[in-house]
Amino acid sequence: MPKVFNWQLNREMDYPYPAAIPKKQFAAVFDLNKCIACQTCTFACKNSWTVGRGQEFMFWNNVETKPYGGYPIAWDAKLLEMLGPQGWDAGTYTGKTIFEAAPAGRAALGFLPEELDWIHPNIGEDETSGIVPGGMHMTIPHDVWNFYLPRICNHCSFPACLAACPRKAIYKRKEDGVVLIDQERCRGYRECNRACPYKKAMYNGITRLSEKCIACFPMIEQGRQTQCIVNCIGKIRIAGWIRQPKDIDEEAPVDFMVHVRKVALPLYPQFGLMMNVYYMPPIHVPVPYLQQMFGPGVEHALEVYRNVKDDEQLLGLFLLMGSTDRWVDKFRVKDGKAFGYDAKGSEIVRVPIKEPNFVRPFHDVARNTFRHNIT
Ligand code: SF4
Ligand code: SF4
Ligand code: SF4
Repeated sequence: MPKVFNWQLNREMDYPYPAAIPKKQFAAVFDLNKCIACQTCTFACKNSWTVGRGQEFMFWNNVETKPYGGYPIAWDAKLLEMLGPQGWDAGTYTGKTIFEAAPAGRAALGFLPEELDWIHPNIGEDETSGIVPGGMHMTIPHDVWNFYLPRICNHCSFPACLAACPRKAIYKRKEDGVVLIDQERCRGYRECNRACPYKKAMYNGITRLSEKCIACFPMIEQGRQTQCIVNCIGKIRIAGWIRQPKDIDEEAPVDFMVHVRKVALPLYPQFGLMMNVYYMPPIHVPVPYLQQMFGPGVEHALEVYRNVKDDEQLLGLFLLMGSTDRWVDKFRVKDGKAFGYDAKGSEIVRVPIKEPNFVRPFHDVARNTFRHNIT
């Protein structure tokens, strides 16, 4: 099996195909401190793309509540249990990836969720203390906390769905790294559903084909961000190109957050897919829980996030999140403002770091009107 270098694990690993890193790779950063689980992203995606037959359970974007929610149910807990305890040595992963732990005859370790697991997209919603059958709460030996985890396909650099497809119906676009399922070639064998550890290759029981998030590629091609990103109420998301660590562009939003400040982390990097959606971890959640989910960079990311008020570059970039539907190729922060530029270098957005505060007179003499409710 070819060896590929996975910088998220800081080591080489086995993958069924040689590395084919595209010239540009679609990526996104989500700030978990700001998601309010409004599901606007979910429905922006559904209204845009999943309107055909059998779409009731096609949640290419879903938002689940951790620690108890998951769509499909327990997608991560089941796989982590199958993988067994694994470890990190500082920043290097010493355990097995799902490719290295694959059973004979399969490309990756995985499982096929039951039909019932797919029919409760928001089970566990707002549950901070867990549920047991019958709706009874159980007693848990830790502080009560939860957070919302929005998820889309990660357009992985080493996609398990692609590796597992016996029809070679899944491909990764050279121009932007978007992973797509060719609906003409797919025969619904469900090997991608089994292999994708994030369960983001989904089986449509009516069309009997698998489908998935397409990263809104028609929008990317027009220099725009994706539907779930531009419609996000909490402004928690931003899309951008990500580069390999040796080619970083410090003015590119995703590179800056992932590689320079290291405030955004991959979800379950230990699975080994070198995924391309990154998360700023929630600062109120216990570190050990976050570490098993986002890897060894958690403490650093939390520290950077907590100190953002003293980091004008990062603060400016945070303010650009959700500020435009255009693709922000580069950003700069100067003179108290954050600027976003498109691929041609033209300014597309500017946001003040500090909102100006205008105090208007109680009585506007020119218009002879009162500015406040005086009744
Ligand atoms: S998240 Fe899953 S469906 Fe998406 S590219 Fe990775 S392996 Fe494939
Ligand atoms: S990127 Fe586009 S296709 Fe993918 S989940 Fe978001 S809205 Fe849906
Ligand atoms: S639209 Fe934004 S804030 Fe609302 S659930 Fe989706 S990611 Fe969270």
